[in-house]
Amino acid sequence: MADDDAHGPVRGARIGVFGGTFDPPHVGHLIAACEVGEVLELDVVLLVVAHRPWQKVGSRPITDASLRLAMVEAATEGLEGLVASDLEIRRGGDSYTADTLADLRRGSPDAEFCVILGTDAAAQIDTWGRVDEVFASATVVAYERAGADGIPLPPLRDDIAIVRVPRFEVSSTDVRARVAAGRRIDVLCPPGVVRIIDDHGLYRVGDP
Ligand code: ATP
Repeated sequence: MADDDAHGPVRGARIGVFGGTFDPPHVGHLIAACEVGEVLELDVVLLVVAHRPWQKVGSRPITDASLRLAMVEAATEGLEGLVASDLEIRRGGDSYTADTLADLRRGSPDAEFCVILGTDAAAQIDTWGRVDEVFASATVVAYERAGADGIPLPPLRDDIAIVRVPRFEVSSTDVRARVAAGRRIDVLCPPGVVRIIDDHGLYRVGDP
């Protein structure tokens, strides 16, 4: 399994940290991660699977973290520079990016870290735990994403850098709703992800 331990201490590397629930991962995530990695000349972009996305818990059932990790591993297979990370799952408990950066820094003391997120998530960043630690230890980079229902997003903090990447407006919520409705998702999710969803009967019933 590829993660910070697996590629060992990295000196001076530029590491992207793209966190998410990934329930499930879809091509929107992959396009953003690949494009930001290329634009910022990052050595690697870690897709960090949240163990317990505490801001989403309670709003809907969340798929077991090990299955979400398996889907991210399947989604990133063969994509150079994209690596699934189980760091937050191994740490357990609620997932905080501040803790993740501290753990990554211990493994790669000389690396530069970029936290990557869509502008929708960036607009909410002040609701994160210990957000000052995030800004102290990483550059926060947002790529443009439309607001959930087309409503313009509020202005972002001045210390968030913006990059432009091609937009592909799908969400995990859309994918789950399609599966529940018996619609196809094979263009929206890589084949390995579709296979896991089918094999485990994910998202067929219930609240998307
Ligand atoms: P959900 O619909 O369940 O809320 P999501 O599709 O928004 O999920 P998350 O795993 O919550 O996915 O998001 C992780 C990160 O991926 C966030 O920074 C979010 O902005 C970004 N993201 C989600 N969908 C897309 C997309 N279509 N294109 C680019 N980035 C995306």
